Amino acid sequence: MALSRRRLVYERANGRCEYCQSPALRDILPFQLDHIRSRKHGGPTKLSNLALSCLACNTFKGSDIAAIDPETDTLQPLFDPRRDVWNVHFRWDGPILVGNTAIGRATAALLRINLPTRVDYRRSLMRARLF
Ligand SMILES: [Zn+2]
Repeated sequence: MALSRRRLVYERANGRCEYCQSPALRDILPFQLDHIRSRKHGGPTKLSNLALSCLACNTFKGSDIAAIDPETDTLQPLFDPRRDVWNVHFRWDGPILVGNTAIGRATAALLRINLPTRVDYRRSLMRARLF
């Protein structure tokens, strides 16, 4: 059961982190099933509350469900891969993830998607045409 749930989440996400879009096949660490609304806040372990996440995004997200938008200094809900459309909230500027919205900026900041090591990793994937 756990295996099939994992497969369903993986396939629904096309094998990419639903936050930073990193390809799971290229990562040295296994991707995780993120509880979009964390268990700490009553989030169920159901397909509708799960997202495929790389280890970095899942670790920085932790059990948080909201974060501060660095531009407006306001509390925002985190990007919800089941409810929100990625391209509405985010865009790429080369290997840098840009938040289009307060939700996008708050999520990118909390999940530290633009840490220099992560940007370098994406740049190398882009050079190899894998991202
Ligand atoms: Zn990620």
